[in-house]
Amino acid sequence: ATEVQLASRPQGAPTLENFTVANTAIPSPGEGQLLVRNSVISVDPYMRGRMSDRKSYATPYELGRAMQGGAVGEVVESTVDGFKPGDHVLHFEGWRTHAVIDAKTAVKVDGAVSPLSNYLGVLGMTGLTAYAGLFRVAGFKAGDTVFVSGAAGAVGSIVGQLAKLNGAKRVIGSAGSAEKVKWLVEELGFDAAFNYKDGPVAEQLREAAPEGIDVYFDNVGGEHLEAAIDSMNLNGRIAVCGMISQYNATEPTPAPRNLATIIAKRFTMTGFLVGDHYDLQAKFVAEVAPLVASGELKHSETFVDGIENAPQAFIDMLEGANTGKMLVRV
Ligand code: NDP
Repeated sequence: ATEVQLASRPQGAPTLENFTVANTAIPSPGEGQLLVRNSVISVDPYMRGRMSDRKSYATPYELGRAMQGGAVGEVVESTVDGFKPGDHVLHFEGWRTHAVIDAKTAVKVDGAVSPLSNYLGVLGMTGLTAYAGLFRVAGFKAGDTVFVSGAAGAVGSIVGQLAKLNGAKRVIGSAGSAEKVKWLVEELGFDAAFNYKDGPVAEQLREAAPEGIDVYFDNVGGEHLEAAIDSMNLNGRIAVCGMISQYNATEPTPAPRNLATIIAKRFTMTGFLVGDHYDLQAKFVAEVAPLVASGELKHSETFVDGIENAPQAFIDMLEGANTGKMLVRV
């Protein structure tokens, strides 16, 4: 078996030296447990936070131990009624080829209904983040103009399309390359998109949304948040999902300089964690799975092969190598 361990805590951007790829014995399941051979594992931005020992909403990874994360795999040994070899399960012991998991934490998934990788992305945690953030947190309604940053990523690409499919007046996305911008407009049906590396975000957003925005779905923070506040209409809503532009920061970053306009513009700004919204899971899957199956909701997965390449996949994801969900095939 092979697992990826945290070797050291990154200062700034993570590097390969922060990880150890270790060979280990195949573990044996105890009472109430399953041995799972992972087939696909997820690498996600929040893992950057867990590599640090700063207090955060997720507990820090332990040095010298395997990292955790979302994964899907096949049960190879079971000591539990209801799970048998050959079943596929979603669980949280990623970053390794073989995982022993408590059966009560495993969720059965069906590869015949959807490709297994989808349970880590569009039909999984990142899809639910988009759904809960847009509808519940931002209170999206038909006629809203929506701006989403990180728009070509796993969460952002679903946010923009859900808004479009549900009657948005206009959907604008920002992303970090010309190809991503083209994908958003030509494939996903965004009304406008821009490359935030091409010039000041505030100017590009004003041009893309001449009548302002009603909802900002923030995946990035920093300059993007300031620009969104600048373009915010009266009674707008900001759902703060992530601030990836700050995850590698070694110093506290400045607040948006225009925050005081929250008063006159009466906009709201609400942070959220997907973990608080799993009551929406069934509704989300019932609504979104048919849209995925029919092709009305498009999604992209970027695959890297080999558990030994998972650290590089994670590093590359933080730098924008992915379109849609970044995944590692084990
Ligand atoms: P993505 O698939 O969007 O991958 C991360 C992307 O971030 C990269 O592809 C890159 O795209 C972009 N990026 C990296 N650095 C910067 C930067 N400095 N400025 C702008 N963009 C940058 O990841 P996810 O969809 O999984 O996550 C998106 C956001 O949602 C993250 O902030 C994450 O932390 C957050 N999140 C929050 C959850 C919650 O419960 N609140 C749950 C899940 C995710 P590009 O090429 O465009 O730069």
